[in-house]
Amino acid sequence: MSVGILERLAKGPVVGDGSMVFTLEKRGYALAGPWTTEAVVEYPEAVLQLHREFVRAGADVLQTATFFSSDSKLTTGKRDYTSKEINDAACMLARKAADENACLVCGSISPAVPLDSGRKNQHLLAAEFTKQCNVYREHRMDLVTCEFFNNIEEVEICAVEMKKLNIPVSLSMRLGPGGDEKGVSVEECAVRMAKTGADMIGTQCGYDINTALNVMSRFKSALQEADLRPFLSCQPQGMLCPEVEQSPAGYIALQEFPFAVEPRIITRIEAHQFARKAYELGVNYIGGCCGFESHHIRSIAQELQSERGIVPPVADKAVPFGGDALKLSTVNEFHNGNRSTREYWYNINKGSGRPYQSALTEAAMQTGYPGRMYLQ
Ligand SMILES: [Zn+2]
Repeated sequence: MSVGILERLAKGPVVGDGSMVFTLEKRGYALAGPWTTEAVVEYPEAVLQLHREFVRAGADVLQTATFFSSDSKLTTGKRDYTSKEINDAACMLARKAADENACLVCGSISPAVPLDSGRKNQHLLAAEFTKQCNVYREHRMDLVTCEFFNNIEEVEICAVEMKKLNIPVSLSMRLGPGGDEKGVSVEECAVRMAKTGADMIGTQCGYDINTALNVMSRFKSALQEADLRPFLSCQPQGMLCPEVEQSPAGYIALQEFPFAVEPRIITRIEAHQFARKAYELGVNYIGGCCGFESHHIRSIAQELQSERGIVPPVADKAVPFGGDALKLSTVNEFHNGNRSTREYWYNINKGSGRPYQSALTEAAMQTGYPGRMYLQ
C-alpha cells in the first residue's frame, strides 16, 4: 500500500508529472486543436510510455490523460468516444505506470461547458463533472484535481462534485497576474479556492515558471491574511512567455502557438532553478504542464533529492549537472570549463542560436514589455 498524498505533502515536497496531451501531439498521437486524448484508446502504448518516462524521472504522482475528456468536448478522433470510455482507459494506463514505482494517480478534470452569466447552465456543467468523478470513484483514484480552468466560478462548481468522492481534492487554475477571465483577482481566487475546503490549491498551465512563481507568492500572502492553510501546488507550462502574462489566454496568445514555440522551451537548468524557487516559496507540490518533458521533471526531482531523501529511478543514467560521468567527456576540453558543476550551468550565457530572431514577439515589443527577469 503506497503512502497517501496528504501524508507525502506533510512530509516534504511532492514531485508532479509534466505535459501529457501537448507532448502526445508532438509525438503524433493527439490532434492540435481539440487537444483531446483519444490516444488512451487508440495508442495506449504511447500514453503508457509517456507516463513511464515521468515515473522514471522521479514523479510521485501521475495525472490521468483526460484533458477535455468530457462528453461535450469529445467529438473528434477516429470516431466519437464517450467520456466514460476515455476516462476508464486513462485511469487504467496511469495506474499501471504508477504501480511500477509506488506512485499515486490523480484523476484530472478540465473545463467542459462554458458557464453562462447568471449560472443558468450550472447544472449542465456539474453533470459533466459528475460523470468524470464517477469514473474516478470506480477506479479508486488517490486524489483528484482540476486543470486549465480560468474562471473561479467553474472551479467552485467542480469542487462541489469532487468533494463528493471523499478523497483528497486539489484545485488549480490557469492564472496570470491579471486574475481569472472575469478579472477576479489572484488573491480572491486563492481564498475562494481554499474556502471550498480543498486540500491543495495552486496554479497550472497557461503561464511560465516566472509568472507562476510570482502568482504563487501572491497566493501565499492572500492565504496568510485570510488564515487559510491548504497545501500549495505549482505546475506551470514549460515555455518562457513573459510578454503574455497580462493576457487571460496566457501562452495561447503567443503568435507562435502551437507549432513554433520550441525556442521558448525552458532548459533543464531552468527547471532546477524553478524547483528551488518553488521550494523556498513553500510550494508543496511541484510539477509542470504543457512543454514540461520528462527531463524537466527529472531536474525537479534531482534538485530536491536531498530535501526529499528520495533518489529518482533515473539516477542510474543521470546525475545532476553531469557529475563525475561528465568529467570524463571530451566536452570538458572546450573553454577550459568543468561542465559538471552547478556553477558552470547556472553562469553561462545560454544563446538561442538565432541571431536575427527577437527575444520576444514584435507585438510585445511594441506594447513596451518592461523586460522583467526573474531567475537570474
Ligand atoms: Zn498545459
